[in-house]
This record gives sequence, structure tokens and C-alpha cells, in this order.
Amino acid sequence: MEKSATDRLTEVQAEIDKACRIARRRPEDVTLIAISKTHPAAAIAPLLEAGHRVFGENRVQEAQGKWPELREKFPDTKVHLVGQLQSNKADDAVAEFDCIHSLDRPSLVKALGKAFDKAGRQVPCFVQVDIGEEEQKGGCAIADLPSLLEQAREADIPVIGLMCVPPLGIEPAPYFALLAKIADDHGLDGRSMGMSSDYPTAIMLGATHVRVGTALFGERNTSA
Ligand SMILES: *Cc1c(COP(=O)(O)O)cnc(C)c1O
Repeated sequence: MEKSATDRLTEVQAEIDKACRIARRRPEDVTLIAISKTHPAAAIAPLLEAGHRVFGENRVQEAQGKWPELREKFPDTKVHLVGQLQSNKADDAVAEFDCIHSLDRPSLVKALGKAFDKAGRQVPCFVQVDIGEEEQKGGCAIADLPSLLEQAREADIPVIGLMCVPPLGIEPAPYFALLAKIADDHGLDGRSMGMSSDYPTAIMLGATHVRVGTALFGERNTSA
């Protein structure tokens, strides 16, 4: 029989607890973000019913379609944006999400600053760092980070940490360690790092937010 999403949630939480024990960290200092992109509301509901409240999506439009109804039933739910954000969708993102993990460029700092003013609401942000210096991926170049953080401060954007997606197919630990060090250097507490294949490692290296999709929901449809 296939495992249910709630069985998987229990397993992932046990892995998180184990990594925390090894690293001598408190499990409550690690937030599990259940990445529900591509999965329908019917797949998400069991996790909500099991008491999980923090989710992540990578597309504004998809979240707008799925979450209003789910939030009505579970109003204390937090939905994080973990995908790239176009500046022209900043207003929609501020209305829909409780945290944004993909702040990565000056134009988005401007757009979010304006969107916060307009909405009268501020959403905590992670600055995404292009930790593997891969041009095609989102994220701010490490060299540009100090100036981007300064611009975010000037625009009154609450930056709570750094986020990364390490290069595929290589050992991610050195990249997690590097992100943690850069966060330290800038006095930022939040580290959004670790996905299904590597979240225990990320926790041992200081992750405060792990973004786990496949290990909770199963494989995604590859077309999405
Ligand atoms: C999809 C996604 C995840 C989750 O990936 P899994 O390997 O399914 O756990 C995490 N972070 C980001 C930015 C994603 O887009």
C-alpha cells in the first residue's frame, strides 16, 4: 500500500528531530515548509488536517487558485513563496503570501517596497543567493549581496535571512556551509536551505527553514 501524506509527514518530522539531536539544536528552531506546488488542494488537505500549517508554492497564480479556500478552513496557515517572482506580480504576492524566499535583485526590492506601502502590510523576505554561481538560476550573486541588502534596508524590507538552491548533482554540504557563513557575516538568523534529498544535512549545517516537497507529497508530474 502506498504511504499516506500524513505517514510521510511523521517520517520527515522524525528525520528533522534526529538531525537536530545530532546537531544539538532544538526542533522548534527548524520550520518545515511543505512544498505543495503542482499538488491539488485535495492532496494538501490531509496535512492541514494532521495539524501542519506551513506550506510553500513556487507560482503566484497557482497559489491564488488553491489557497483561498484552504485558508478559509485553516486560517492560521502560512504560505511561503519559494519560486522566482516577477516585479509586476509583487502586489499579488504580497496579498497571497506570508513569506517570500526569492528576493534577488534591485528591481524586485523596489517593487516589493512599493507593494508593501500600498498594501499597508509587510511580508518577511529571504534574499536568495546564487550560491553555486550558476547564471541560469535565480539568486543574487554573492558579490552583489552587500549592496542588495543595503537597498532592502533603505526600502524598509524586513529581510530575515538568506535562501539558496545548491547546484544539482554535487554534494550540497559545502554550499549550505557557505550560505550559513554569509548569513552570519551579515548578522542574519534565517537560513532557508535543504530540500527532500538533503534537508537533514542542511539542518546539521544550520538551516532554520527546510523546503520539502517530494518527500511529503511524492513525485511531481514532470510536466509541471
Ligand atoms: C520544488 C522546490 C523545493 C522542493 O523540492 P523537493 O525536492 O521536491 O523537496 C524546494 N525549494 C524550491 C525553491 C523549490 O522550487
